[in-house]
Amino acid sequence: MNAYRSSIVRIPVPGSASPLEVGGGSFVLIAGPCSVDRPETFYECAESLKAQGAHALRGAIFKMRTKPDSFQGLGREGLELLAEARRRTGLPVVTEVVDPRHLEELDPVVDVYQVGARNMYNYELLKELGLSKKPVLLKRGFTAYLDEWAHAAEYLLRAGNSNVILCERGIRGFDPHTRNVLDLASVPVIRARTGLPVIVDPSHGTGRKDLVDPMSIAALAAGADGLLIEVHPRPEEALSDADQALTPGEFAALRRKIGRVRTALHAEEDLA
Ligand code: PEP
Ligand code: MN
Repeated sequence: MNAYRSSIVRIPVPGSASPLEVGGGSFVLIAGPCSVDRPETFYECAESLKAQGAHALRGAIFKMRTKPDSFQGLGREGLELLAEARRRTGLPVVTEVVDPRHLEELDPVVDVYQVGARNMYNYELLKELGLSKKPVLLKRGFTAYLDEWAHAAEYLLRAGNSNVILCERGIRGFDPHTRNVLDLASVPVIRARTGLPVIVDPSHGTGRKDLVDPMSIAALAAGADGLLIEVHPRPEEALSDADQALTPGEFAALRRKIGRVRTALHAEEDLA
């Protein structure tokens, strides 16, 4: 299925001796709300995702919002919520880091640092994250050439962090029918170029929950190593990105479909 091999990034799983491997032939599902909001809503989301087979939990407490009056995230107050969801579910936590000064506080509760599209060009942040050994999920900037994305990854690698996962999240196009244009052709190309595992974010890639399912299957077929998907128990209550969030039930249906498609793709490989 994967035309090109990548390195394997191992994400430690709380309380388990076996890490979660990204890039070793498995298909990793990272899911959760865009932003962490109310404690019980977040725990409900985390627990249902755990029950439905997600491998890691996403949720931002520091947001990079285009408009200053939009919800900016819970900030430090959200740290305890991330820690509690991690304790309850045993899922590794993926959260966005927007400022190197937050790293010390985030360190005890975060398993993967997400660098958002708006920060792909923030080289000082990348250099700091490069000094950590913790896995980094590096999103593609929405105006970034593949070359620029690869160079951004190089900042992390050169500073000494080889645990880099790339995430295609769509680039800016001209037609507002989707929030971004999900560039799936980048998946095999950037993997071949960098040798790093690549996952796809169909939520920001389209901005539309009805397109998350088909684009997830397309990402799988394009050889992605996994997905980053926004899920909220009651999307209409989400404080950011409500239009693109799946419910946990919809996530579960998608996961089953992914299983069936993976079986078909592997059967095809076995015949080849
Ligand atoms: C997010 O993952 O919620 C996010 C803000 O994504 P991006 O940086 O790709 O816009
Ligand atoms: Mn979001």
